[in-house]
Amino acid sequence: MTEKRVALVTGGSRGIGAAITKRLAADGMHVIAVARSLDKLQQVCDEIKSKEGSAEPLVADLADAKAWAAAVEQVGDKHGRLDVLVNNAGITRDGLFLRMDDEDFDIVIDTNLKSAFVAIRSAGRMLMRSKTGRIINISSVAGVAGNAGQANYAASKAGLIGLSKTVARELAGKGITCNVIAPGFIMTDMTDVLNDKIKETVKANIPLRRFGEPGEIASAVAFLASPEASYITGQVICVDGGMVM
Ligand code: NAP
Repeated sequence: MTEKRVALVTGGSRGIGAAITKRLAADGMHVIAVARSLDKLQQVCDEIKSKEGSAEPLVADLADAKAWAAAVEQVGDKHGRLDVLVNNAGITRDGLFLRMDDEDFDIVIDTNLKSAFVAIRSAGRMLMRSKTGRIINISSVAGVAGNAGQANYAASKAGLIGLSKTVARELAGKGITCNVIAPGFIMTDMTDVLNDKIKETVKANIPLRRFGEPGEIASAVAFLASPEASYITGQVICVDGGMVM
């Protein structure tokens, strides 16, 4: 059995997930980082190892529920434990809802929401064996407040909140906490595609008048995964420069 606490972080190759992977490894965990393509995952893991940390890549497509469930179970078989599950991977397929087709709705729900359900269900027994089981789901302020042009994305992110509160209630008796972080506008590949005009409009609506850094989300995850957060469950923490309050 792996000695260190073991964390599984989806979407660990880039942006927020890469920052979470590096932070949890720096905090002493063995981190399994998941994405579809190996190259960037490997870079993140190599960087961690160069700093004496411990990490490994896991290539999987979360939208393929059956394969994803099997991959999560294999983590348990390999390491004999799982202590922290961070459901972070997410995609957007934006458009006004009247023109949104089923395919764009379904792929966002499958990737952002169903994959988290599948991971929690598959990891449930392993987390129960841990004395410090933590589930942290990365939602969005769009899931809290809605966002024009993101019916699919906002539904997936609001769904994560309902899922998390339910899981928090069902697993509380086993000592497992389940919480949500709802980021605001964070500088990553996902937001880099927005044009400058949209970015300026967004910034004007952020009380702290700046976009967030991936590391600022990773700090909140590290806190929720730590012993300091042992009495917090079923909560949604917005890390958004004050956008939602
Ligand atoms: P990102 O830079 O686009 O990275 C997304 C990550 O998810 C990548 O590692 C990607 O790797 C992985 N991924 C996507 N689809 C996948 C699939 N089907 N199977 C496995 N891995 C998959 O995103 P980000 O900005 O860091 O966002 C991370 C999370 O925070 C998302 O859930 C996002 O909705 C949420 N969020 C972000 C912001 C923001 O402003 N950036 C705001 C609110 C919430 P591959 O492409 O190699 O698979």
